[in-house]
Amino acid sequence: MADIKKENVQEQVAGEAASNFIHNIIDKDLEAQVYGNKVCTRFPPEPNGYLHIGHAKSICLNFSTAQKYGGKCNLRYDDTNPVKEDMEYVKSIEADVKWLGFEWENRLWASDYFDEMYECAVTLIKKGKAYVCDLNADQIREYRGTLKEPGKESPYRNRDVEENLQLFEEMRQGKYADGEKVLRAKIDMASPNMNMRDPVIYRIAHAAHHNTGDKWCIYPMYDFAHPIEDAIEGVTHSICTLEFEDHRPLYDWVLREVGKWNPPPKQIEFARLNLTNTVMSKRYLKAMVDDGTVEGWDDPRMPTIAGIRRRGYTPEAVRDFCERIGVAKANSMVDVGLLEHCIREDLKQKVESRNVVENPIKVVITNYPEDMQEQMELENNREVPELGSRNVPFSRELYVDGDDFMEVPVKKYFRLFPGNEVRFKGAYFITCNEVVKNADGSIKELHCTYDPETKSGSGFSGRKVKGTIHWVDAKTAVPVKIRNYDYLMLDDEKGGQTLNPASLSESRGFAEPLLAKAKPGERFQFFRKGYYIADEKLTTEDEKVFNKIVGLKSSWKK
Ligand code: ATP
Ligand code: MG
Repeated sequence: MADIKKENVQEQVAGEAASNFIHNIIDKDLEAQVYGNKVCTRFPPEPNGYLHIGHAKSICLNFSTAQKYGGKCNLRYDDTNPVKEDMEYVKSIEADVKWLGFEWENRLWASDYFDEMYECAVTLIKKGKAYVCDLNADQIREYRGTLKEPGKESPYRNRDVEENLQLFEEMRQGKYADGEKVLRAKIDMASPNMNMRDPVIYRIAHAAHHNTGDKWCIYPMYDFAHPIEDAIEGVTHSICTLEFEDHRPLYDWVLREVGKWNPPPKQIEFARLNLTNTVMSKRYLKAMVDDGTVEGWDDPRMPTIAGIRRRGYTPEAVRDFCERIGVAKANSMVDVGLLEHCIREDLKQKVESRNVVENPIKVVITNYPEDMQEQMELENNREVPELGSRNVPFSRELYVDGDDFMEVPVKKYFRLFPGNEVRFKGAYFITCNEVVKNADGSIKELHCTYDPETKSGSGFSGRKVKGTIHWVDAKTAVPVKIRNYDYLMLDDEKGGQTLNPASLSESRGFAEPLLAKAKPGERFQFFRKGYYIADEKLTTEDEKVFNKIVGLKSSWKK
């Protein structure tokens, strides 16, 4: 099983556009002129949290499908629950859709259709297709039966139309308490599909709604409201996730029985995105925000679009990812390494390189003149020569990365250690001669010597060294803070997830002088280390804080 999944990912990375069965359906509908030449989709978030990478999948699918066919895609807030609406969520949703590069045709609110939905319910009652039921929630569940046994009919199922109309009107007027009565579709208590066993389509909730205020104390259920929302808007293809496959007969039933729309929209299901090391439920993400596990919805470790953006992902990389994973009809787990691969591929061509050392160790080049400073020319992007080069100061006192020195080297360690000579990238060959310690035994500095003959670009070919490391000039070094991230969630063998207690670690470092001007949101490759972004919230004139976006090497095997 796991092997098959890996193979699939491999294919997608090869750039083969995953076949999109949804487009095949639309092609057929266009050919048969089911909706004429019209294609209309929608992205219907419930404004109860920030969007996550799973939503990005749905956004890309809905908007790009509309684009592909010259059609339209609406942004529709599915706000049929009178829960406290938060404008913060609405704002974030719109910012996220725009950031991904999409424009909605219309911005709509499902709650604007409450009057029409009520009329639809009345239509069903008049047709003898809906009834007011006095059973409470527990009784309804009990009467519904099980997958093996048919349900029992409610004793209120055969109320006549007049009585139902009156009771439903009284429900609307507020005569009854929450849960005292519901309106149910009259379908089939013996249906093998549990969703068809007289589902509740309206419930009483004495709660104010952000849009309609106190006008309503009855609210439509999702399965009744959603098809009507789609139909009112002229949606042709209503794309949703696989959990709704069993609800499709009900979707079709509502539209058929209300009978106002011809042809009715078509519901199509695709597999929701699941990612390794990633939790993708707004409820869970909200809990982490509320209990302070993370620094907010846009914490760079969060799988929210806001978090991914702050982490340094580009919209191009996210869209590329959504395209590569394709649209499947069966649930699967996508390796988060593929998402990382996409951002690496995107940034590789775009960003400039800078020298930055983390957990720095000081190096004194004892044979280098005290007051000399040279400008070393370093290329900005090895793969894109057009990005040019820059001058970086070099002098007697430098810093190297903590990972590039070992007092007692392990096997195959070719970087700096006592007695070893390495290349300082773009500068000279340097030999480490002495480790100078502080009183507490920690390293104070390394005393090294350089060989003037070996200057980079001089054509020196006298001898070779195995290690090349980078460096930062001490006098002009810019102190930086670096935030390194690990996955927020750890996957266990049984398919569960636990919170990673060590998902954030901060370190200090020094950067070459140019980074003093880094603007919030600016991305770089830190030479030999990875891709980083100046954090948009924490970076100031005085302090540069970088998020590590992704390392240079893929942990994920093609
Ligand atoms: P969550 O379960 O995370 O709270 P949701 O499905 O309740 O998500 P909605 O706001 O109702 O969130 O979703 C808006 C749209 O995004 C729906 O059409 C839904 O199917 C889609 N969507 C949500 N999660 C995913 C996912 N992981 N993969 C693909 N599409 C998704
Ligand atoms: Mg939902």
